[in-house]
Amino acid sequence: MRVTCPIHEGARRHPDAEALRFEGRAWTYGALDAEVARWTAALESRGLGQGDRVALLSTSHPAVAFLFWALGRVGAVFAPLNARLTGAELRPLLDAITPRLTLALEPLRDRLPGAQSLESLAEHASGASKSLQAWEEDLPRVILFTSGTTGRPKGAVLTEAAFRASCRASSANLGAHPAPRWLGTLPLFHVGGLAMLTRTAYEGGCLLLHERFDAEAVNRAIDTEGASHASFVATTLERVLDARADRSLPDTFRCALIGGGPVPTALLTRARAAGLRALQTYGLTEACSQVTTERPDEADGRTAGPPLPGLEVRIVGTDGVPLDVGQEGDVEVRGPTLMAGYWNQPAATHEALHDGWLRTRDVGVLDARGRLTLLSRRTDLIVRGGENLYPAEIEAVLANHPAIAESAVVGVPEPHWGEVPVAFVVLRPGHALPGDLDVWCRQSLARFKVPSRFVVLETLPRNAMSKVERTVLRRQAMSQRM
Ligand code: AMP
Ligand code: MG
Repeated sequence: MRVTCPIHEGARRHPDAEALRFEGRAWTYGALDAEVARWTAALESRGLGQGDRVALLSTSHPAVAFLFWALGRVGAVFAPLNARLTGAELRPLLDAITPRLTLALEPLRDRLPGAQSLESLAEHASGASKSLQAWEEDLPRVILFTSGTTGRPKGAVLTEAAFRASCRASSANLGAHPAPRWLGTLPLFHVGGLAMLTRTAYEGGCLLLHERFDAEAVNRAIDTEGASHASFVATTLERVLDARADRSLPDTFRCALIGGGPVPTALLTRARAAGLRALQTYGLTEACSQVTTERPDEADGRTAGPPLPGLEVRIVGTDGVPLDVGQEGDVEVRGPTLMAGYWNQPAATHEALHDGWLRTRDVGVLDARGRLTLLSRRTDLIVRGGENLYPAEIEAVLANHPAIAESAVVGVPEPHWGEVPVAFVVLRPGHALPGDLDVWCRQSLARFKVPSRFVVLETLPRNAMSKVERTVLRRQAMSQRM
C-alpha cells in the first residue's frame, strides 16, 4: 500500500500548526514540508533512490527529521548509528549495511572517515523535487542496530507500515489528543526516538526535540512549552522528579511512558505522588517500540500493562508450547509492528521470527487481565539506563589487555542506572590488577559500556558444559556491592 508523507499531509490540512521545535526555533507543518522537499531534492541530486541505505551518525537535531522524511520520499533506507559509539565500533555496522551515502553531524565527522556533513547536505538544494510525496509502506524504511550476543551486529529492518501501526496502537491506548506535544528526549538513533518522531507526525502534533536529555530543560518544556507527553527510562524519570522538587504539573501535561529496561514500581509510585502520570511500558526495537503499556485508567506501576490494541503477547515454555496465565516463560509478540527481519541475516531472522511471532528472549508472566510482568532475559544483555550492552563485546576488549587471561562481564542492579556492568577478570601469571583498565576500555568502547568495577578471580565459575555461570557472578557482585 502507498502512504502519503504525513508531513505533506499535515501541510495540506493544517499548514500553520506547529510540527517541530528545537532550541527556540519552530517549524510549522507548511515550513517543515518545504524543508523536506528541499532535502528530497538534495538526495535526488545525489542519485539516491529506492532501497539505497543512508547511514547517519548524529545526536538529535532538526536536520535528522528533515533527512528522515526526505529519505522516505525517495524510497531510501535510514540507518541511524548510536552517536556514543567509537570509530572502531561503527566500522562493522557500516560494513553490514554498505551505505550509498554516509552522513555525520559536523562535530562527529572525525569518527566516521568519509562521512559528509549532515548540516550542509541540502545547502544548495532548491525545493523543486520531482519525487512523489507518497511511498510504498511495506518496503524497508529504517535499519536499527542491536548488536547480538555473539558481537555480530544485527540490524532490525522496520517498515513505514510498522511505524504507522505502532502510532495507531499507541494512541488507541493513550486516548485521542487534538495536538499532542511530545517531549523528544530519547535519541533519534533509538527506536523510542523514531517512534516519537513518527507518532507526532501522524497525529498532527509537535515534537519538542532536545539534543540530549537535560532534566531542567525537560521541566521547562513541561512548564512553558505545553509538553503533553514524554517517554523516559527509569534513570531519566528519576532525574526529572528530583529536578522538579514539589512544583506541581500544569494541566497540559498528560502522561509519560517509562520503559526501555526494568522500571521499579516505587519510582512510578513516587511519580504519581508528585502528580506526574507515569505509565510503565515494555517494548523492543524489533517491535517498533511499545508492545505492552499500562492503560491510563488502571495504571498502578506493578506490571508493564496489557498488549497495545492490535498486538498479541503470549508466554511459551522452553518447548515453544503456550503456557497458562500465571506461568513463567518466554515472551512472544505478534502484530503489525514487528520488524521484517534482520538485515542480510536469514539465520538470525529465522531464529527470531516464526509463524508471525517474535521471540523476544525476555522472560515474563501474564496475569488474568492480560498484563505482562517482566522477570528476566534469556540473553546476557545488560541494560544500563536504556542503553543495551552485550558482555561479549566488553569481554573481547578486556581479552586484548596483556594482563588479562579471561573475563566475564555481568549486569548488576544499581539504583541510578537500573543496571551496570561489572567485570570479573582472571589475571595472567605474574600480573597484578592493572590500574588502567577503564582507560583501556575507553579506547575501544563507548563510555557507557565501561565496567563500573573490576573484580579479580582465580578462575571463572563454570558449569558442567564449561559455560561461565553468570548467575553465580551476578550474585557475588551484588553481595559485595560498594
Ligand atoms: P532494545 O533492544 O533497546 O529495543 O531493548 C529492549 C529490551 O529492553 C527488551 O527486550 C527488554 O529486555 C528490556 N525492556 C524494555 N522494557 C522493559 C520493561 N518495562 N521492563 C523490563 N525490561 C524491559
Ligand atoms: Mg533499550
